[in-house]
Amino acid sequence: MKLDVAGQSALLKLSQVDLEIEQIKNEISKAINSKELSDLSLSLSATSGDVLTSRTNFENLTMEARKADDNLHLVEERIARDVERLNNTSSPKDAQAMQAEIESLTRRKGELEEVELEVLDRLEKAEAELKEVSSLREQLASQVSALQESIQAQVDELKNRGRKLTADRETLISKIPAEILEKYKNLAAKTIAVGQVQNRACSACRMGLTASTIDSLSALAEDEIGNCPECLAMIVR
Ligand SMILES: [Zn+2]
Repeated sequence: MKLDVAGQSALLKLSQVDLEIEQIKNEISKAINSKELSDLSLSLSATSGDVLTSRTNFENLTMEARKADDNLHLVEERIARDVERLNNTSSPKDAQAMQAEIESLTRRKGELEEVELEVLDRLEKAEAELKEVSSLREQLASQVSALQESIQAQVDELKNRGRKLTADRETLISKIPAEILEKYKNLAAKTIAVGQVQNRACSACRMGLTASTIDSLSALAEDEIGNCPECLAMIVR
């Protein structure tokens, strides 16, 4: 198969450019399917359930605390009213009944104060827990978005290189006759399509070549393309 030296050099370069494009595609796919990102995203979505549970708990306890406080105030108001009535009554019988009610209300007040303290204690813990899970979630969310940005930057950079190589590829193709290009495409679909003899080996498959193969490749005319007997790559100068 005949191809002038400039064409051979374009053919070799085309093969290198295509390998590089393939590598870039692999790198893009690897970057997009980042395991680190999918692990982080999983952790992030797991925290959304935790935050919801903590927030619901916190809100329920806030309502409970408000209710406990209301109950306490009601009893305090009743005690205040009874004390006032006690001070204003002239009937010893009423005074006795009032006294008894005040005592009972005061016991109730003590119980309600305990309830309120206990609820406030739980509320404080729930608030701390909500803060903790929310801050973990924010931390994870910012890690996810930083990683997404860095992956995007990496992919953009790879795509730029890919676009430049694709443009180079068009220029190279225009220097190669259709028949050789066809053969190149068939070979490149399976293996590295173009090589050179380097250190007595084929640069495409890295296999050592026999002395007689090297002799016959060297004996070819300058514009003749040989083939590697091992991998069938087209051997250029
Ligand atoms: Zn070879």
